[in-house]
Amino acid sequence: MSFDPSRRKALSLIAGGMVLAPLNTEARCPADPLSICNVTHLHTVKVGGIAEIRGTDDVRQALHKWRGQVSVGGGRFSMGGQTAIHSGLQLNMRPMNGLVKFDPLNRVVRVQAGMRWRDLQTIIDPAGLSIRTMQSYSSFTVGGSISVNCHGRYVGHGPISRSVRALQLVLPDGELVEASREINAEIFHAAIGGYGGMGVVTEVELNLDDNFRIERSTNRVSIEDYPAWFRERVQSNPKVLLHNADLFPGKFDYPRCVTWTRTEKPLTVHERLTPLGGRYTKEQLFLWAMTEVPGGSSLREKVAMPIEDKPAVVWRNYEASLDVAQLEPANRDVATYVLQEYFVPERHFVSFARRMSKILQSTPTGTVNVSIRHSPADLAVLMAWAQQDVFSFVVYYKQRVSIQAQQQVAQWTRAMIDLALSHEGTYYLPYQLHATQEQFQRAYPQATMFKKLRQQVGASRFTNTMWAQYQV
Ligand SMILES: Cc1cc2nc3c(=O)[nH]c(=O)nc-3n(C[C@H](O)[C@H](O)[C@H](O)COP(=O)(O)OP(=O)(O)OC[C@H]3O[C@@H](n4cnc5c(N)ncnc54)[C@H](O)[C@@H]3O)c2cc1C
Repeated sequence: MSFDPSRRKALSLIAGGMVLAPLNTEARCPADPLSICNVTHLHTVKVGGIAEIRGTDDVRQALHKWRGQVSVGGGRFSMGGQTAIHSGLQLNMRPMNGLVKFDPLNRVVRVQAGMRWRDLQTIIDPAGLSIRTMQSYSSFTVGGSISVNCHGRYVGHGPISRSVRALQLVLPDGELVEASREINAEIFHAAIGGYGGMGVVTEVELNLDDNFRIERSTNRVSIEDYPAWFRERVQSNPKVLLHNADLFPGKFDYPRCVTWTRTEKPLTVHERLTPLGGRYTKEQLFLWAMTEVPGGSSLREKVAMPIEDKPAVVWRNYEASLDVAQLEPANRDVATYVLQEYFVPERHFVSFARRMSKILQSTPTGTVNVSIRHSPADLAVLMAWAQQDVFSFVVYYKQRVSIQAQQQVAQWTRAMIDLALSHEGTYYLPYQLHATQEQFQRAYPQATMFKKLRQQVGASRFTNTMWAQYQV
């Protein structure tokens, strides 16, 4: 598909929602380099300084020179100011992105924390190796992923914490520490999922897995049958690598399951990795049409699903190296795409799904889809989001950026958090900070211990908008 420039400009304005809502310039990313923007272009934070980090000495010098509060920036895909604090210093970790050690025989790699997954994949793919656990996209930094304790579609893996062997951190006084399950274990388990609140993660050592071919299959099941179907067909099949199930507007009640299983069949896609710098005009237009054209949500059923239902055999690394650019709209001036995620114990799956559907149907949420995944409990990490085996519900939605629209989103987000809490569940922290203080404390009661530990190691100056808002 190609467009002449004027038509593309017109489409880009429409795609940003310009025809549908008044412009809110506050939502744009300001040109001022001290205004720290995140992927949503909402919740920009004006910092007092930015230090470019290329090595541990840069971190130590920055901490020595700057006496105030310090936050840490990775890929800046978190959505509520988690990488910055008003008037503080931001350490930009992205330039610190080298390989420290690669041991293909033992399937271990150690990298500097600012490296992005996609760059690590370029290094390990020729050795036939893959990252064991990561998000669905490869654009994130390793340090940012560790610090939110990310997870992906990997069946049985749970959060990334399980594949982390060791971390190197710089503590507030400039001390360099190695932390693992054996040494400085308390710091290790608090820094993973610690959103920059324990120290600056400078190196990460990870276990790797083999790269192999995977084949996609798709199924539809009813929401009531899904947990049993998942147990029998997905969880108990050791050949399954990736799985998620999508719920769509309007009733969100008929999951479409997508499963990737190990195979020896011939490849349908021969590239080993998703190319860097790809152009995704078709995908972007499709997403716009789905969210803006009346009846657009049915386009997925009519156009996308028949394509996605076709057989596909790809390398694991190909599927693991998707680029978030696929999802990037032409602009975010008037509307932006946002995520939320809720974790609910297995036994409450159906009840949560039913009630969630009611909230999403009764409120104009702009939901594109809700993606279901599963995670085993994560008992070691202090700020764990999976305190027992859980299903997660990732809500992907488009919202306007006007103040009124943001208030509406805050309202239905709080209703969703209450729903998760009433089902003994919790919510994921890298997204917009709409939870009330009480909701945060109920979802993360262990934050009190985390705060004490931060005080013990003198890390209170390592903070960000999230830790400040919830007084941790
Ligand atoms: C399109 C999209 C898809 C996503 N999909 C998934 C998914 O599949 N699974 C999932 O779990 N999450 C997902 N996320 C959320 C994403 O994983 C987190 O936002 C993650 O933090 C992104 O990494 P980052 O490098 O952008 O981190 P940033 O946003 O830069 O940082 C995140 C947090 O980590 C801290 N931090 C960063 N680097 C360091 C460091 N070196 N030392 C100490 N602290 C540090 C920051 O201060 C901040 O608090 C998705 C987000 C988007 C936008």
